[in-house]
Amino acid sequence: MATMKTLHVELLRYTPDPESLIAMGAKLCYSKSDINSLREKIEAKDQGSFIQKLMDMGHESVMEHSVFTFGIEGVSRALLAQITRHRVASFSVQSQRYVSYENGFGYILPPQIAALGPDAVKKYDEQMNTIETWYKDWQEKLGKNGESSNEDARFVLPNACETRMQVTMNARELRHFFELRMCNRAQWEIRELAKKMHILCLEVAPHLFENAGPPCLRGKCPEGEKSCGQAKKIRQERKDLLAFSSLNTTPEEMKNLKNGDTFYIRGERHVASCDSHMSGDASCEEYIVYDENGTSWFETDFRDRPF
Ligand SMILES: Cc1cc2nc3c(=O)[nH]c(=O)nc-3n(C[C@H](O)[C@H](O)[C@H](O)COP(=O)(O)OP(=O)(O)OC[C@H]3O[C@@H](n4cnc5c(N)ncnc54)[C@H](O)[C@@H]3O)c2cc1C
Repeated sequence: MATMKTLHVELLRYTPDPESLIAMGAKLCYSKSDINSLREKIEAKDQGSFIQKLMDMGHESVMEHSVFTFGIEGVSRALLAQITRHRVASFSVQSQRYVSYENGFGYILPPQIAALGPDAVKKYDEQMNTIETWYKDWQEKLGKNGESSNEDARFVLPNACETRMQVTMNARELRHFFELRMCNRAQWEIRELAKKMHILCLEVAPHLFENAGPPCLRGKCPEGEKSCGQAKKIRQERKDLLAFSSLNTTPEEMKNLKNGDTFYIRGERHVASCDSHMSGDASCEEYIVYDENGTSWFETDFRDRPF
């Protein structure tokens, strides 16, 4: 029986310390230091503001050093046709030759059809099950001998048919993918996938991906008359996303900040200005972190005791 499937995506693996590796590549370009001293310098300091600078400068090739691999299922063959247009990515896709659907195939239900109500959903499900009978019929007629009958029986399968894949992209390609596919002009299914992939990336490389997404997040929408006109809303959604992601700098990280380091409060990026001095009665060291506007965000009376 054909059964409905929904999107599932996981970040299977990624380059350890993806941002440090990128920073190291970039610093190597501009530095006389050898590899070991470069590594020590990189490890001693948060590279957030440097990563941001690289992106502002358009020094994007260094982002190719960090790669991210996703496991994706519950997506349609219609999505497959779109995602595989991204030539810089690497793909492994479930085969319709080696895998038989004689026990039923998965299918994706478009939300617009779901929104038509239960009768429409029932009809769609019936159509999928009818297609399955056609598929099995062709498998039988073609000798039902696995690969060689599957490869032609599959011609009657729909675009809705579920597929699964493993996809690897480097950070540069991912940012490009997010730019095109998180835009409201992209088709709903690949947009939904791109948004989920983006959240997974944000968790492990926040500086690399905090402003990744449609062009309107970074400037004017380039779509002209075809623009969705939602730039303001999209920017607000990004602020909200950052506020609720793990982008808040922890007290433990705060107390180790140095002047010029980046820190996050509810997803907002700030540049630290740190003041450390002995208290008036000389009983303890006071440590305060201000943002670029002079607002204090963190204070300790001892370095190890935030209040
Ligand atoms: C809203 C939307 C609608 C679309 N509609 C259609 C459509 O109707 N029909 C259709 O066919 N496609 C359509 N596409 C797909 C689109 O044309 C691209 O094929 C797809 O988005 C991949 O983009 P890309 O080539 O930039 O990405 P990638 O293949 O991932 O490449 C990344 C970048 O690498 C560089 N690059 C890669 N290969 C080459 C090369 N051979 N030569 C030079 N530079 C290269 C380019 O700078 C490119 O931008 C649509 C895409 C979107 C987002």
